[in-house]
Amino acid sequence: MEKFDIAIIGAGILGTTISYWISTLYDLNVCVIEKENDVAQHTSSRNTGVVHSPFYLDPKKRKTSAVSSLVSHDLWEIFAKKKSLPWFEVGTIQVAADEQQHKTLEKYMKWSVKNGIPEKQVELLDSKDLLKKESNLHAYSGLYCSRDVSTDYGIFTKELQKESEKNGTKFLFNKEVIDTNDNSEVKLTFTDDSVVTAKFLINCSGGNSLDIAKKCNLAKKYDDLHFRGEYWICDQSYADLVKTNIYTVARFSEFPFLDPHWIKRSNGTTEIGPNAVPVATPETYEGYVGDLNATVSKIREIFEGNVKHLLTNSSFLSMLSKEFFSSVSKTAMVNRVQKFIPKIKPEYFTKHGTAGIRTPVISSKGEFVKDILELVGKNSFHIVNYNSPGATGAPAYSAYIVKKLQDKGFLDYSQKPKESFWNFEEITSLF
Ligand SMILES: Cc1cc2nc3c(=O)[nH]c(=O)nc-3n(C[C@H](O)[C@H](O)[C@H](O)COP(=O)(O)OP(=O)(O)OC[C@H]3O[C@@H](n4cnc5c(N)ncnc54)[C@H](O)[C@@H]3O)c2cc1C
Repeated sequence: MEKFDIAIIGAGILGTTISYWISTLYDLNVCVIEKENDVAQHTSSRNTGVVHSPFYLDPKKRKTSAVSSLVSHDLWEIFAKKKSLPWFEVGTIQVAADEQQHKTLEKYMKWSVKNGIPEKQVELLDSKDLLKKESNLHAYSGLYCSRDVSTDYGIFTKELQKESEKNGTKFLFNKEVIDTNDNSEVKLTFTDDSVVTAKFLINCSGGNSLDIAKKCNLAKKYDDLHFRGEYWICDQSYADLVKTNIYTVARFSEFPFLDPHWIKRSNGTTEIGPNAVPVATPETYEGYVGDLNATVSKIREIFEGNVKHLLTNSSFLSMLSKEFFSSVSKTAMVNRVQKFIPKIKPEYFTKHGTAGIRTPVISSKGEFVKDILELVGKNSFHIVNYNSPGATGAPAYSAYIVKKLQDKGFLDYSQKPKESFWNFEEITSLF
């Protein structure tokens, strides 16, 4: 039975960046456990690929995410340039459809300053300015953020894995954790009946994080839901109708979803999406049901757990029906984007993009939990509800988590710092 000082579950962007930081600071026996045969096979490669600037994040209620995404922009840029990775400075315009949504953009301008975005990188544009900037973009107004970038987070994760491995981290692939605990020696059992033990567990298992936390007797009062985000790829001849990423102001601010955006990807393609279609598991990339047992258990959880409160929320039900319709009908999805890019037509979109699944957590009051949930066990730490802009914020947020583990005495080992792309002390002092 292999023994480790630290076991991290999940080789997505979060687990891999945390392993990188630990490997640059200590000489410890660390493993990253992953059920797939490579890193970033799920959300970390199945997203919009935008390095977000936090103008839309409430500086008080979402402070950690805002600081993480502001600081990480420069960290990713350093990493991308050193390793010649995709870094496409495309910019984002968030559009308002009417005066009421424009007020939200005015609020975002204030949040942008509070969150530390340099003033010259954000500006409010009226409908005429918008047309000057993008002749096919029709909206009441827009907030233009020149700082936003498109990249490929799957490639970033792969490169960080190599760096972490060079420093001694062991990646254990094809190992699915089916059971664990929070004892003085944490025991992790896999589907093939093999076992490893660790002195400390860090749970970064994305769409399964809540389930793993519950195995350690934590987070009992929370439930989660899985929403698939689907994309359509624009045929290349129409891809330059608009050259900037276009997002919209959320219609339902209580839910963590926006209307589908117009996305310029770092590989040169243009897509629309994602919508938010409820599915049974964090990996139901096609169809609606997936594994039958998982579906039955999810349906039971919905009717017996926190989600039942949402079933009486008319805004939620109205949002769901719209999202579902845009999954079964391409035209319905395109119509949503046509509201701000009237020239596009359903026939311009002939191929599906790569779908990804968000797993928001629902509180006992039936509300979507707004920010990341960090749960502390006796010998374990769990990161749950790590949703957008999670990929953007990963390097700074991971440093913040490692600092937190140090402060709580979970990393009470002598440090042996190695050369790193980023400065740990400098970053953690910014939170
Ligand atoms: C549609 C969509 C669009 C998004 N767009 C953006 C964007 O533009 N910009 C941005 O910053 N963020 C975006 N995000 C959010 C971002 O992608 C996520 O916050 C981030 O990738 C989460 O990383 P993670 O490492 O926590 O999860 P994951 O990448 O899902 O990694 C978790 C890993 O744990 C493994 N695992 C799970 N259970 C087990 C188990 N029992 N045993 C072993 N391994 C296990 C999984 O196989 C997986 O590899 C988007 C998300 C979605 C879904």
